[in-house]
Amino acid sequence: MNLPTQSRAVIIGGGIIGCSTAYHLAKLGWEVTLLERKKLTSGSTFHAAGLVGQLRSSASITQLLGESVKLYRTLEAETGLATGWKMNGGLRLACNKERWTEVRRQATTARSFGLEMHLLTPKEAQELWPLMQVSDVIGAAFLPTDGQANPSDITLSLAKGARMHGAKIFEDTQVTAIETQNGHATAVITAQGRIATEAVIVCAGQWTRALCATIGVNVPLVSVEHQYMVTEPIEGVPKNLPTLRDPDRLTYYKEEVGGLVMGGYEHNPIPWAQQGIPEDFSYQLLNSNWDHFAPIMELALGRVPALQTAGVKTLINGPESFTPDGNFILGEAPELRGLFVGAGFNAFGIAGGGGAGKVLAEWAASGAPPMDVWPVDIRRFGAAHQDTGWVRARTLEAYGKHYGMAWPAEEYHTGRPLRRSPLFARLRVAGACFGEKLGWERANWFAAPGESPRDVYTYEKPNWSTAVAREHFNTRQNVSLFDQSSFAKFLIIGRDAEAALSWICANDVTRKPGALIYTQMLNARGGIEADLTVARLEAEKYYIVTGTGFATRDRDWITRNIPPGMDVHVLDVTSAYATIALMGPRARELLQRLTDDDLANAAFPFATLRHIHVAGAPVMALRITYVGELGWELHIPAEYAMTVFDALMAAGPAYGLALAGYRAIETLRLEKFYRAWGADIGPDQTPLEAGLGAFVKLKKPIPFLGREALEAQAARPLKKMLCGFTTLDPKVILLGRETIYRNGLKVGWLASGGFGHTVGRPIGYGYVRNPYGVDEMFINSGTYELEVATQRVPCRPHLAPLVDAEMKRVRG
Ligand SMILES: Cc1cc2nc3c(=O)[nH]c(=O)nc-3n(C[C@H](O)[C@H](O)[C@H](O)COP(=O)(O)OP(=O)(O)OC[C@H]3O[C@@H](n4cnc5c(N)ncnc54)[C@H](O)[C@@H]3O)c2cc1C
Repeated sequence: MNLPTQSRAVIIGGGIIGCSTAYHLAKLGWEVTLLERKKLTSGSTFHAAGLVGQLRSSASITQLLGESVKLYRTLEAETGLATGWKMNGGLRLACNKERWTEVRRQATTARSFGLEMHLLTPKEAQELWPLMQVSDVIGAAFLPTDGQANPSDITLSLAKGARMHGAKIFEDTQVTAIETQNGHATAVITAQGRIATEAVIVCAGQWTRALCATIGVNVPLVSVEHQYMVTEPIEGVPKNLPTLRDPDRLTYYKEEVGGLVMGGYEHNPIPWAQQGIPEDFSYQLLNSNWDHFAPIMELALGRVPALQTAGVKTLINGPESFTPDGNFILGEAPELRGLFVGAGFNAFGIAGGGGAGKVLAEWAASGAPPMDVWPVDIRRFGAAHQDTGWVRARTLEAYGKHYGMAWPAEEYHTGRPLRRSPLFARLRVAGACFGEKLGWERANWFAAPGESPRDVYTYEKPNWSTAVAREHFNTRQNVSLFDQSSFAKFLIIGRDAEAALSWICANDVTRKPGALIYTQMLNARGGIEADLTVARLEAEKYYIVTGTGFATRDRDWITRNIPPGMDVHVLDVTSAYATIALMGPRARELLQRLTDDDLANAAFPFATLRHIHVAGAPVMALRITYVGELGWELHIPAEYAMTVFDALMAAGPAYGLALAGYRAIETLRLEKFYRAWGADIGPDQTPLEAGLGAFVKLKKPIPFLGREALEAQAARPLKKMLCGFTTLDPKVILLGRETIYRNGLKVGWLASGGFGHTVGRPIGYGYVRNPYGVDEMFINSGTYELEVATQRVPCRPHLAPLVDAEMKRVRG
């Protein structure tokens, strides 16, 4: 078969991800060519252990892994090629109190997402896995639909399925270059010829980073060694043995030919190929490293004493691509149109392969993913993730934490500090405990004299709650200063700026200069792709402010949706402006002390912007709030930031000014029903479902992206609606993902959760679902419970902000 000169899609890489993507894309009727530099499966795929687990902390990624299982159950029948798929279920052990809490919370998460997961006593777990000793086990969880597959067989079966649907697969065909033109990927080059294409899909495993770097696309992954041992047959290992994960002993197990596969995630992983992957590396393993494996072995022997006497067939040491946050990387590159990536599978590419290939194929075919896959979206990264040394350090930390406790609010330590606001040093001296987002150091909370600015993680009430409560009350009663310099900020400039933003924004942006517009940006399904503030500076100039973590994504969304031919330029000015948010009932008094500009409500109303001077510095002041108090966001050219900060701090004591951090913002916004993108709202929810219909210009005859979908939705009863909940018991800890029950029936789960200090109660938000329609009456007529770590607790629904009185002050 000759290499074609043209193919609608070209997939690079014949591991499980490339073959799965080819299978799904060919099934969608696309002309697909897959190129593999050596042989199919010869990268990381051939040496995978083959465990297939499904539960993740995100509903859509759990759903994606569930798609893998759905496919693996039927693939062999479809293609006639064996896959080694066995749905023996998966066990997970807990050996201490906190791990048991984590497992019980996971069981509730599974229930929320529609996965069966049962809690077992140690004895019941042992009945399923007789070879293990359970004296240290407190409890276990069992997922009956987890399983295992033979990685090479399943990949070859996918490749056959792809061919059956018309895909062409070429082995020994290395892509040596990708051609680009006008910001688009247009062709791939191989020694055998050039293939012109409209979609290049890079599924090249650990080779992806280097290949994509040649065309300016950043894929932050690095190779890390990963080992597992394979034993000879062991008496008492049945064919239907469930997979077993023993996180407190860092190990996992599965049955293989009557023996066991046992591997682990050590705390001190070994990076591989730091100088680049050897040219001829294919179907190769690395040298077994028994010394490094010894601590894992030691832990395993305590669980499975039979390993002591079992014959060891081999210790597999294979390299695999890992990423800085432990999640894989999917989607169209923000740097280059028509260039898609599916890589960095962190040793769960077999589990993820079926679903990830499906999502990637649909993304390439339609230009958008079929569902919200933000946790794995390539646009979650940015310039902070380009340096390979940084990527490696953070990735090794993430690998080392694989079987660690998934603590709420846990932060990484490596590669910090990287991005610092001009106020960083001042905040540190003032007792800030910093967290990190997209490389930025951000104050999470401030320790008072005598307190240590250090997080102590727990599933109970955390050590920072007193400080956060202090900051919360000060914001409600006096005034607080938040350093929000990490906000992503864009200038949208050009003759057609208004026309372009009118199309992209759901709210009306045709207002006069000086107006602030809170708006969503919608996809064609009406789903919320971005949630941000648009400030009109001039007739042809807008300023957009969005969340720190959304810098790459929102900019990409705006740029790709500017209608063709329009004169509009998008500039990222994040680093040009520091942002001080001054929030609280005394914000006006304090700020007025430092400016001659009139801050009275008549002169400077809510939702407007003014250029003022504060302590001599030119400041763009935005009258807006995310905490529900009177206040301003002061956007200050970076070099003036310290001057403004020092002046505010000097004048502040008379007004009760105190510093406050991001964790206070979270509790404050929860009380005010302000939605958080990525939790309460996202591409799978519309503004109507999220209760944000008031910010959509449906009553005006202005066309906008997503309008038709919203109009169609408005004509029918809603199937889900965002609702707030407070538990009657103030001691309950809500973290998100708790199951919502209405009149005893499961109707959804919490998208976010926390504690409201003013209301003195835990607060959560989640969508109440009903196929026959949800409205205010439906919500208010139910009796509700939340399942928290498998226990049901009574709660009340709320459709309005919980702290209302303050709203008057905000507006007046
Ligand atoms: C020891 C070990 C145990 C594991 N156990 C499990 C497990 O139990 N469960 C699980 O889900 N996952 C497991 N994994 C992870 C799993 O193996 C990977 O996530 C998965 O195989 C990744 O598949 P891939 O297609 O992304 O990459 P690969 O299989 O590496 O495929 C990439 C392919 O791209 C080709 N390629 C690269 N550059 C080019 C080019 N320029 N032109 C053409 N072709 C190119 C390569 O030759 C390679 O074949 C394990 C991994 C290891 C190392």
